[in-house]
Parts: sequence; C-alpha cells; structure tokens
Amino acid sequence: MSKLAAEYQAINLGQGFPDYECDEKLRNLVKRNLDEGKNQYAPLAGLPNLLETLAAKIRRSYDLEVDPIKQLCVTAGATQALFTAISAFVKSGDEVIVIEPAYDCYLPQIEIAGGIPKPYTLRYPDYTIDWNMMEELITDKTRMIIINTPHNPTGTILRERDMQALESLVASKNIIVLSDEVYEHLIFDSEEHQSVMRFPELFQQSMAVFSFGKTLHATGWKLGYIVGPEHLMDEFKRVHQWNVFCANSFLQFAIADYLKDPTTYETLPTFFEQKRDSMTKALSNIPLTPRVSEGTYFQLYSYEEVSEQSDIDFAKHMTTDIGVAGIPLSPFYSEPPDDRVIRLCFAKQQTTLEAAAERLAKLGRS
Ligand code: PMP
Repeated sequence: MSKLAAEYQAINLGQGFPDYECDEKLRNLVKRNLDEGKNQYAPLAGLPNLLETLAAKIRRSYDLEVDPIKQLCVTAGATQALFTAISAFVKSGDEVIVIEPAYDCYLPQIEIAGGIPKPYTLRYPDYTIDWNMMEELITDKTRMIIINTPHNPTGTILRERDMQALESLVASKNIIVLSDEVYEHLIFDSEEHQSVMRFPELFQQSMAVFSFGKTLHATGWKLGYIVGPEHLMDEFKRVHQWNVFCANSFLQFAIADYLKDPTTYETLPTFFEQKRDSMTKALSNIPLTPRVSEGTYFQLYSYEEVSEQSDIDFAKHMTTDIGVAGIPLSPFYSEPPDDRVIRLCFAKQQTTLEAAAERLAKLGRS
C-alpha cells in the first residue's frame, strides 16, 4: 500500500510510522555518541548501561526485578527478537497458536522454523478472546502461543482477566508465551498495559518483546529488546549469537542515557491518546465508522455504509481515487472473514490528518 500511495501521491495513513521528528534531545545524544566513536561491536546481550536502564524501566513500570545481564537482550528491532525466539523454541512439527488478525511476520517466521501455525480467529467489532475456545486448540504438540497487546491491527488490548485466563491455560504445560508488547506505552483511557511481567507464574514461561521504534518515534532505527526468565533467555542467546551476535552500538549508548528520564516514555499514552482523538475528530464527518482504538497508533474504520467491495479493493480505491492510503485487514488472516474494515494510522501531524479528512469527505457509494 505504501508503494501504491507513493505512486498516486496519496496521504499515507497505511503503514505504521510517524510523519514527525523524534525528540531533538535524543537525536543530539545519537550524534554525540557517533562523534565520540561508539562505533564498534557491543556485547552480545547489549550495552550494560542500556540493560541497567531497561531493568530500571521494567522495575518502575511493572514492579518486577529482572537481572539486566541474564534476563535481557537487545535486538535488531522487535522483528529479530521474534524471529530468534521462534527459531530457538519451535522445532519441526511443533504447533504455535497465533491470534488472528496477526502482525505479518509471525506466520512466515513459524514456517521457516518448521512449525505449524494454528490460528485463533478474532472478529470485528469486539475482537475478544474466548479462552475456552482457545483451550480447544491446545494439543500435545503445542509449543508456543503468540499474543500481542496492545494489538496491531485492531487497536484492542488484553485485560487482567485475559492474562489470568492465559496464565491458567498454560500452567504446568510445556508451552512458551511469546508476548509482543511493542505498543506497551501506546495505551489509552487510563488503562494499564497488562504485560506478562505483571503475572509472576505466567512470566516463568514467557518472553516479552519490545521495540524502540515505537517508543522513540524512530521506526527506521530497528532496535528493540526481549526479556524473559533466565532459562529461556539462555536458549534465546544461543540463537542470537549466530544470527546477529549484537545490535547497533551507538544507538544503544544514546538510548541508555535518554531512557533514564521516565518522562520520555510515561508521557506517551497522553501524547498518542491526543493523536487518536484528533483523528477521530478530524474524520468525524466522513462516511466511515471508527472502532475507537484502545491502544497502538492504529484505529479501525468500517466502510460498510459506503461500499460492498472487499477490503483490498476498497483500500486500493481509497488510495488511487480518493488519495488516502489505509491498510486492509484480510492479509492479517489465514482465512479472512468478510468484515468491511480498514486500518488507519494516527501517528501523524494534525495537518496530515486534516488533509486526509478533506479527501475522505469525497467518499461516496461505490
Ligand atoms: N510487532 C508488531 C505488533 C508491530 O506492529 C511491529 C512494527 N510494525 C513489530 C512487531 C516490529 O517492530 P520492529 O520495527 O522493531 O522490528
């Protein structure tokens, strides 16, 4: 969709990335570390200063003590953390439960490892999990369950009761929970992010994945980290060593200093909630109906009232004829339901959102 958007000079509310700069203080720290020659390999698990900063952030956010050296690993983005975790634990013939619509890298990563994805399908508009139905998917081959909260693409979140249900579901089973929490701070309406780290028993069989791309408004830096109990992190690092060895060094120095100030991440829920509300307001007069986002920087819009097209055709129509790109949901499913919804990204400047609203007002029956 980004390619089509560029071709038709459409406003790109499709792919998830901010169209504004990241913090000047952070950019200056990056430049300083680059100029100071922090350009050689970092240790395998990450720069000790960054690992300490992350352990302090985890203590503050989730009231959990993690050993910075044994329980954390800095990665080349969340994508590499997910790939390495799946490669470390999923072997040929193992089953992995994936909640769909699912972020696009999970399925291919499972298949590369020789695993068998077992989709659990969520439906518009609630996208809630029935944990009894989820239990029916578990077999003696189930090795992993991948969860994602706040959830891309739906903008929904898992609540405490979901995590408790998950905790009892996997208790005393040889199942690892791979928890994609890249949008941990993009959560709204005073809800608390329910990290696996808040549930001590669940955390013993979980690994949580994070992305500095989301937290620092810098998706192109491709830096992230993973946290888990020591016995799982040991296995993770055995694969990490041969797949990347270590992540980019000068960014680690800069981020280690930047994140020492908790306001850098604690202000994010309000910042993005305002952006969500700006989009909802700017698009309030167009014939698309929002499903109010609870987290992430995405909001779903139903186009039921204006078109009977498939979501892929409608997204193409929006891009080529209206000049605004959005993302259809069907590619996030192995067997797409017939829901008429598209995903729009609100990590955009007010002027971008208003320009998009002006164009979208032209949407008519097609
Ligand atoms: N997981 C989810 C749910 C995402 O939305 C993204 C980025 N779009 C990633 C993982 C990948 O993050 P990174 O760019 O740090 O690899």
